[in-house]
Amino acid sequence: MNIDEGVVVDIVNAVLGRLDGSSASQAEEEPKAPEGGDGIFESMDDAIEAAAVAQRAYLSCSMHDRAAYVQAIRDVVLNQENLEYISRQSVEETGMGNYEHKLIKNRLAAVKTPGIEDLTTDALTGDDGLTLVEYSPFGVIGAITPTTNPTETIICNSIGMLAAGNSVVFSPHPRAKNVSLHLVRLINRALAKAGAPANLVVTVSKPSIENTNAMMSHPLIRMLVATGGPGIVKTVLSSGKKAIGAGAGNPPVVVDETADIEKAGKDIVDGCSFDNNLPCIAEKEVIVVDSAADYLIFNMKKNGAYEVKDQATINKLVRLLVQENGKSPVTAFVGKSAKYILDQVGVSVDDDVKVIIMQVGEDHPFVQVELMMPVLPIVRVPDVDAGIEMAIRVEHGNRHTAMMHSRNVDKLTKMAKLIQTTIFVKNGPSYAGIGVGGEGHTTFTIAGPTGEGLTSAKSFARRRRCVLVGGMDVR
Ligand code: NAD
Repeated sequence: MNIDEGVVVDIVNAVLGRLDGSSASQAEEEPKAPEGGDGIFESMDDAIEAAAVAQRAYLSCSMHDRAAYVQAIRDVVLNQENLEYISRQSVEETGMGNYEHKLIKNRLAAVKTPGIEDLTTDALTGDDGLTLVEYSPFGVIGAITPTTNPTETIICNSIGMLAAGNSVVFSPHPRAKNVSLHLVRLINRALAKAGAPANLVVTVSKPSIENTNAMMSHPLIRMLVATGGPGIVKTVLSSGKKAIGAGAGNPPVVVDETADIEKAGKDIVDGCSFDNNLPCIAEKEVIVVDSAADYLIFNMKKNGAYEVKDQATINKLVRLLVQENGKSPVTAFVGKSAKYILDQVGVSVDDDVKVIIMQVGEDHPFVQVELMMPVLPIVRVPDVDAGIEMAIRVEHGNRHTAMMHSRNVDKLTKMAKLIQTTIFVKNGPSYAGIGVGGEGHTTFTIAGPTGEGLTSAKSFARRRRCVLVGGMDVR
């Protein structure tokens, strides 16, 4: 039978086109991304749809590609000009924190957030063949970020979420809008230069609670990650979607009589004053065994603490810094310096004062409320066991972070077991718990309530099993 050669070529092309999905008619059916400049969209729906198109394209990229895109994010943040700009803008826009410390935190997020190496594969082989269990993407993640670490959170979430194969829609705090949008723009340009699909990291031009709500209920969002206070964590956990909640803390530090008191005094002041106490892990109250208290206070003062002794001034500070409900800090003072806060109550101090300390009882609002200010109450206890019990009470069951300075291994173990915090730092400043002078990776999304702990790429991935029946066992 004679068949025209041209007809054969047409048939083969048509079949091949159908197999690889590249025939003209199918290509036209591919969803198109809404237009958005540098990942910034007017509407939340458009941002999410663009991120969904991007994630679908991302599925075709190799692990080598993913590593290159993660590196592009690290590089653009580590560019000195960008690093300085986002650090300065963060402080200026939110009115919170300390420029030098923002530089450290942003650099830390860019360098020590794990990439694709976090996604380890489990393999099982046997007579029945080979089974792989791997970390696979969720799809499009909705990430809600705080005012306290606006850029740090966008950096570490972008790296971890993209390493795991997702795209991400950010819903930044409205008070950190400009710096967050600027960073998303920088990341988009860097990803485009590296050849990544457009819109892997997106946001909206006007972040708002309405936009966050629209994001949380959008069907294309497969996972929600909230880094913020108790309200937003509760909201994402009630969303009906897979959610990671990284919520509030109130980290206590316990000091007993066996500790290296000189080191403890310095570590506590350094940890508490880091970024004016904005990190959710930072020391928020000191609980010290009576016999060690005077020497600890002496060493804290030696390292930049200023003690307020006069009760009238302490009362003034309470009225200034704690809302009338007695439960929340006054936002205008969150992340302000010790010197600025003291100025407001008529106490003038040198620039080297980093922390304001005062001796109070357990019920004092400064002990109970998560202030996020370099204001550190000190409570005396008769012995270390009483200190551990008090620390558990004032941590309020957040299971977030706690510190202890002691040389008594039994007591260190006792507190670590009983307080059940995600991070427990022994004999160091709080920031050792996120990889500054302590071993381990960093993150600015510490998920106590939902249990992922210090999140990384694998926290943003699903476990999937792939089974090959027969063969492949080489034992
Ligand atoms: P916040 O709860 O006021 O805001 C966090 C984010 O949630 C923002 O984007 C905000 O716009 C959004 N949001 C808040 N309420 C909302 C609502 N009802 N509907 C929709 N969106 C809402 O917190 P903040 O002041 O920006 O950050 C400080 C808090 O976050 C502290 O409690 C701190 O401990 C916590 N925090 C926790 C971690 C962690 O890793 N666990 C990290 C940083 C901050």
